[in-house]
Amino acid sequence: MIAQLGEDAKLLAGGQSLIPLMKLRFANPKHLVDLNFVPGVSYIKERQGSLCFGALTRHADIEHSQIAAKVAIIHDCAAGIADVQVRNRGTIGGSIAEADPSGDWAVVLSTLQTTVRCLGRKGERTIPLDEFISDAYTTALSKDELVSEITVRVPGKNSGGAYIAFKRSAPVYPSASAAVQLVLEGDNCKDAHISLGCVGLTAVRAKDAEGALRGQNINEKTAEQAAEAARAAADPQPDMRGSADYKRALVASLVKRAIHVAARRARGEQVEMSHIYA
Ligand SMILES: Cc1cc2nc3c(=O)[nH]c(=O)nc-3n(C[C@H](O)[C@H](O)[C@H](O)COP(=O)(O)OP(=O)(O)OC[C@H]3O[C@@H](n4cnc5c(N)ncnc54)[C@H](O)[C@@H]3O)c2cc1C
Repeated sequence: MIAQLGEDAKLLAGGQSLIPLMKLRFANPKHLVDLNFVPGVSYIKERQGSLCFGALTRHADIEHSQIAAKVAIIHDCAAGIADVQVRNRGTIGGSIAEADPSGDWAVVLSTLQTTVRCLGRKGERTIPLDEFISDAYTTALSKDELVSEITVRVPGKNSGGAYIAFKRSAPVYPSASAAVQLVLEGDNCKDAHISLGCVGLTAVRAKDAEGALRGQNINEKTAEQAAEAARAAADPQPDMRGSADYKRALVASLVKRAIHVAARRARGEQVEMSHIYA
């Protein structure tokens, strides 16, 4: 249908980004193609060491899923998006396709091995997440393609992650956020992936911050060094959520907190965590 209707048509998933944009008259599609009537597109499955999410899977389904809880950082993300109403309608596929620079999913999923399955008239293709989102609100999807599934490799033993966003209240996007995924070897950090949210046009991968942890003992000093490197990697815009300097300081402090929680989880501790509300 989307291929037949062309430029004037938009896919509708949870409607939690598209409908507000239509109300504001920023989007004005002539046709809505409602994915909610398509059977079999909402699911959470474990397949060959990966978690697979159907594009129409709601944030709330992921929040309450035992399967998804295997990867703690995924639960952190799903449970913290906006409020219950938004989580009950909004979908993981819609979030990734929207590529909102303030969205939570891309930040978290970019610290994991994530691929996006796309389906179009020419068939299927699978794209790594970091190639799928190329800019703010810009993805590799062609006009007649949709996202059908998001696949995440389950991290191995001695891995742990944490995602923390700072928000002015529940039903708003974060002012800044940090996702940290670690692999430990004894007391040392074997591998680290760190992504920052709301401080760039896409999720910002803080590679120097990761380098500050690799091969090191995770302690106050190394966490502080990684946080400083994250501050330098951030490239925020000033807006109603704060100045650029404020967001740089905020994201550095979120990275530090997330490192400590991720390390405790990698050691096998059950650590409950939620976003921070102003
Ligand atoms: C008050 C409020 C607060 C919010 N706060 C947050 C927040 O804190 N963090 C956060 O991450 N998000 C937040 N959101 C956004 C929410 O997570 C949305 O659910 C999400 O961004 C879009 O998902 P959706 O299913 O609602 O997509 P829709 O709004 O239906 O669609 C969004 C866009 O993606 C396209 N699309 C949808 N599905 C597909 C698909 N399968 N393939 C290709 N294209 C597709 C649509 O055509 C449209 O262009 C908030 C929304 C609201 C209303």
